Amino acid sequence: MQTIFDNFVAFDLETTGLDRTTDEIIEIGAVRVENGEIKDVFSTLVKPTRPIPTFITTLTGITNEDVRDARGLKDAIDDFAGFIGDSPLWAHNASFDAGFLDTAFIECGKFAPTNQIFDSYRLSKIFIPRLNGLSLGNIAKFFLVEQKRAHRASDDAATLAKIVPRLKIYAARFPEELLDKLVSITGKFDAMLSEAIYNLLEIKRGSASLPDVKSREEMLINLEGIRGEKDDTERRFELSDVLKLFDNDGAIASILPDFKRRDVQLKMAKDVYYAFQQGEFLLIEAGTGTGKSLAYLVPAVLFALSKGERVIVSTNTKNLQEQLFFKDIPTLQQIVPFKSTLVKGRGNYICLERLKRTVEKLNQLTSREAEELAYTLVWAYETRSGDIAENINLSTGRISPLWMHINADTLGCLGHKCPFYDDCFLVKVRNEQKESQIVVVNHSLLLADVAEEFGILGGYSYLIVDEAHNLEKVAANFLGVHIGLRNFNILLGELYKEEPLPRGIIHNISGKLRKDYPEKAEKSIQLLAESSKKILTARRQLRQFFTTLGILLQDEVNWQKKQYSVRLRMLQSDKLHRFIIERTENIKTELLLLSDKLAELVSETKYFEDDILSEEYPELVSAAGKLKDTIVDFLFFRKCSEPEYVFWVETGRSFEDVTLHAAPTNVGELLDKMLYKELETAVFTSATLTVERKFTYIKERLGINRISPDRVSEELLGSPYNFKENLLVLLPVYKRDDEETDDWMAQVALDVSRHFRRGSLFLFTAYNSLSRVHSTLEKELPKEGIAILAQGVSGSRYAISSRFKESRESILLGTNSFWEGADFKGETLEVLYISKLPFAVPTEPYHQAICEKLENEGKNSFLAYILPECILKFRQGLGRLIRHENDVGVAILFDRRVIDKRYSPAILNSLPTMVIPIYSQKELIIRMEGQFR
Ligand code: SF4
Repeated sequence: MQTIFDNFVAFDLETTGLDRTTDEIIEIGAVRVENGEIKDVFSTLVKPTRPIPTFITTLTGITNEDVRDARGLKDAIDDFAGFIGDSPLWAHNASFDAGFLDTAFIECGKFAPTNQIFDSYRLSKIFIPRLNGLSLGNIAKFFLVEQKRAHRASDDAATLAKIVPRLKIYAARFPEELLDKLVSITGKFDAMLSEAIYNLLEIKRGSASLPDVKSREEMLINLEGIRGEKDDTERRFELSDVLKLFDNDGAIASILPDFKRRDVQLKMAKDVYYAFQQGEFLLIEAGTGTGKSLAYLVPAVLFALSKGERVIVSTNTKNLQEQLFFKDIPTLQQIVPFKSTLVKGRGNYICLERLKRTVEKLNQLTSREAEELAYTLVWAYETRSGDIAENINLSTGRISPLWMHINADTLGCLGHKCPFYDDCFLVKVRNEQKESQIVVVNHSLLLADVAEEFGILGGYSYLIVDEAHNLEKVAANFLGVHIGLRNFNILLGELYKEEPLPRGIIHNISGKLRKDYPEKAEKSIQLLAESSKKILTARRQLRQFFTTLGILLQDEVNWQKKQYSVRLRMLQSDKLHRFIIERTENIKTELLLLSDKLAELVSETKYFEDDILSEEYPELVSAAGKLKDTIVDFLFFRKCSEPEYVFWVETGRSFEDVTLHAAPTNVGELLDKMLYKELETAVFTSATLTVERKFTYIKERLGINRISPDRVSEELLGSPYNFKENLLVLLPVYKRDDEETDDWMAQVALDVSRHFRRGSLFLFTAYNSLSRVHSTLEKELPKEGIAILAQGVSGSRYAISSRFKESRESILLGTNSFWEGADFKGETLEVLYISKLPFAVPTEPYHQAICEKLENEGKNSFLAYILPECILKFRQGLGRLIRHENDVGVAILFDRRVIDKRYSPAILNSLPTMVIPIYSQKELIIRMEGQFR
């Protein structure tokens, strides 16, 4: 059967830029495919009317010289039109190419082409949802298609011509029912996409030659991680069992070819072994390169197996969580069979029941939701974990309207009554973790579980906290209260929404009762109507409240919309607090009346629970309960009188982001009461736990000083890397008094970049400063072939990190989130600039409240809190530079407070190497040359 996947023209354009109204085509490439085979090729350069920008030449290799004698656009378009005829066309990211093509045809006095144009990017997005990055190159790799020169039109068209038939075979293997649903869903937002999938469906129906549909198990056979069998037999293990695994000829070395015995790793493994044996709280600082995770996993796994216990391992960052679960744990499982589970919050898992209902109610979806549904179905069919992180389409950090309807945190889990109960991902993961020896979580889930009195993980006695320096921050967040318009909007929207179409639990219940029991359910129908009116009123009042609050903030802190987050502290009876009390008076009454109305509705509709409302009734109960809790949280801010809390209002980019916050200031005390009392053993580890080589600060912040000292032990392990030789920290002190700091820093960076052309990271403490340095560098370096990647300008953190890793000589400019967690090895990063010592912003409400508390206790808040926090963060920042034993780098610090102040020794004594003052630019270059020699 011949289709648009077998007979078509694949084409690609290279252009001078992205804007079809101002940029121009410089190359057209096309490949004709007949019966699945390449029959003809079209390729031409086109002479633009302006010079080709440098970055386009860098990307494509097409120079001004190449196009000097090329043909004009009209000639090229005439030939191209003849080549394509009326064939169906394929392009990758077709809207871009089609847009340029339309403009070019019209410019040349022709009608825009009427050929059908299909998009391999969008089709791949649906059928290969787990492929990380849907560039043509990545898709070619996935289908084992050799790609010649990327970003050259004829080569890219040839690559695409080979991908399209493979995409057909791959996609047409999915079940007919799934393809059928996708035809309808995509029809809501993209007719061509729907047409392409309809073709697949026809192929499926009409061809016996296609391979059989693979079962979910068959399709996933290679994706499954290595899992050990459960071992119920209790075994004893000795310290020697732990240590011998780390020998040069031990079991770990037999699996990891580069593994070498490291004394610091052995020492750490020993310490963790004793902590488990003796029921201790162990603090252990271990530098980069220690091999921390295996050092704690080995004794933890052996202990868990021997005692039939679970050990919870908590990390702060996704990177570490993934390294543990997908790398270190599978390695260890090849040596010692054990079970492990990665547990995330409910909202990370898909709810199959909700997905089914969403597909059934296609007509209620907006076109954006329909589009997201199309990008979700294949993944939902394939996935073994149900974890949204696997689905690149929905897990890129933005809020997905569809995901809010289909995740397992949505309202009204049917529990045992659910027809998908046996397949439910959430149920499975919760059961699996009870049977596991190692349970991996992140700090957010760990603390959410503590706040829910262990309602997620169940009781446990053994805990390892990696990246422990972040625990206080996450605890303050999860043990606090946070409420904004968005929380209400989501919840009230689930209950009832009028726009763009009436929908929601109340709408659905009302529809069913009106249809089946118009008389018997008269009172319920009346209550439903009243509730929906009250919901609309509440939404209106809440919007008004948060908008006025935003306007007040604009006046108070000069907050401009679109400006990133600003925080304003709220104290009892101050202007902000009085405003909240006054403006919530009416809303309070409305919300409480709504809550009562819903409670009445819940009791009235219970009669139909086992009848026509078996799906909707649990949702109603859950929504009514959640709304009641949300109202309690909201009204908490009227009091603002809890002595152990700090209250503040935070703005985001819009009024919808204005949020009320309350966080406890006694996190250590709460952790002790709520968590530590339940534990036998806890290990706290990180590369930065000490200040001036002492654990005193972190023990106080995390409440470990409340544990009996005979149960607490400490270990400060160095790094196996040679920081003294490999890391050079330079402090330029030659800024003229009349020079602006940002201009001076930019000038230093310009000179250093031109001289050394090495991968560089510039860490800032304020976005304004980043922005100013960026504008100077951006004017100069790109034209010299050095790319500038700036946070907030060049894309998401993930995108700029990936681009930075790919290009050798670029400079990445980042603020807060790059100070830790960023991992750039080898030549990617060799020069680190630090604009300032990272002292906390003094107006930050949480820091302010902690300082006041310390001052009230008679302590110096600067020395007891602000300075140690700064030192830990500074050490994290410096730690970005040396990530491997062979890494060599130079850090340039622009803040002379590191040597000029009374507190300077505390900072200097905490660093792994000395700081060298530099008196001229020439000296700076000479020093750096010496380091890189
Ligand atoms: S058991 Fe609950 S979370 Fe799981 S699929 Fe059913 S309704 Fe969804």
